[in-house]
Amino acid sequence: MSRRDFIKGAGAGLLAGALPAARAAGLPELNWRLSSSFPKSLDTIFGAAETMSKRVAQITGGRFKIRIFPPGELVPGLQVLDAVQAGTVEMGHTAGYYYVGKNMAFAFDTALPFGLTARQQNAWMYAGGGMELLRGLYKEYNLVQFPGGNTGAQMGGWFRHEIKSLKDLRGLKMRIPGIGGSIMAKLGGVPQTLPGPDIYPALERGAIDAAEWVGPYDDEKLGFSRIAKHYYYPGWWEGGPQLSFIVNQQKWNELPEPYQAALEAACAEANVTMLAEYDAKNPEALMRLVKQGVKLHPFPKDVMVAARKAAFELYEEEARKNPVFKKLYDNWKKFREAEIQWFKVAEAPYQNFIYYTK
Ligand code: CA
Repeated sequence: MSRRDFIKGAGAGLLAGALPAARAAGLPELNWRLSSSFPKSLDTIFGAAETMSKRVAQITGGRFKIRIFPPGELVPGLQVLDAVQAGTVEMGHTAGYYYVGKNMAFAFDTALPFGLTARQQNAWMYAGGGMELLRGLYKEYNLVQFPGGNTGAQMGGWFRHEIKSLKDLRGLKMRIPGIGGSIMAKLGGVPQTLPGPDIYPALERGAIDAAEWVGPYDDEKLGFSRIAKHYYYPGWWEGGPQLSFIVNQQKWNELPEPYQAALEAACAEANVTMLAEYDAKNPEALMRLVKQGVKLHPFPKDVMVAARKAAFELYEEEARKNPVFKKLYDNWKKFREAEIQWFKVAEAPYQNFIYYTK
């Protein structure tokens, strides 16, 4: 006799006290599928979906199960949004800025060059009105969005040769996707978009001169240090990139309220723990890389200043022609400026003293 038959036979009322709340309340058994945009090898990013799914199952007494699929198994990694929109899968784990081709405003869901730090992004999402605005954008695509992890400030990538000033970027072929790539192009570089596995061979055979990925923990696995010794910081195009869980709007509406609450709480937990994982794992990875002879360099100041100028010119230009972008940009820009004023007073002086004053 199966457990379910036993329960049916014994009568639900008799056993209610011993059963998980979900079962006692007669909540349905649900099996959802989640498509991830991230390969399993990026265990910290991929793992955020697993963290979320495990917690949802725990909270609902095993009644609401979400199975995670790596990119390519159900849908390609960069088509997760389309698949969730169409209801092919109920849910996805992805990065909004993969979809800037649909609308550049999707970048606000992940990162804009010289944008918010991870903490500021969380502040904008959970307490600053950013999530409501982003959800307005996602609603047009039949989706509900939840913050779903953050890497913290990324590294600026691996360069075969030193970059001493802005003019060294001229003609430089670099793997750098998205808006960061557009800005690199404005500075005279030649941006390339290559998926993770193709970067190492391109760098090795000299097809590209530089490549950015994430940060020490993830970059170490791809082995870039063997061919490009100069490791630059900071990744000014990704100062606090956020990943997102997206849910099909109808599927979300159909969820019983306790399941909605479970899903929302589990997404928030995954959002926080991914950043914690990176902050805990990056220091040791960086030390190992430096021991192998990797040379750390800050980007020259003229590169940083020119890139920031080019970035804001690009945003202003986009805001003039794209009302959806403008709506998010106006709010984001004001929020960012206020955050800078506050962080300049307490956070930055505290950190500067701790890090640099003996
Ligand atoms: Ca990156």
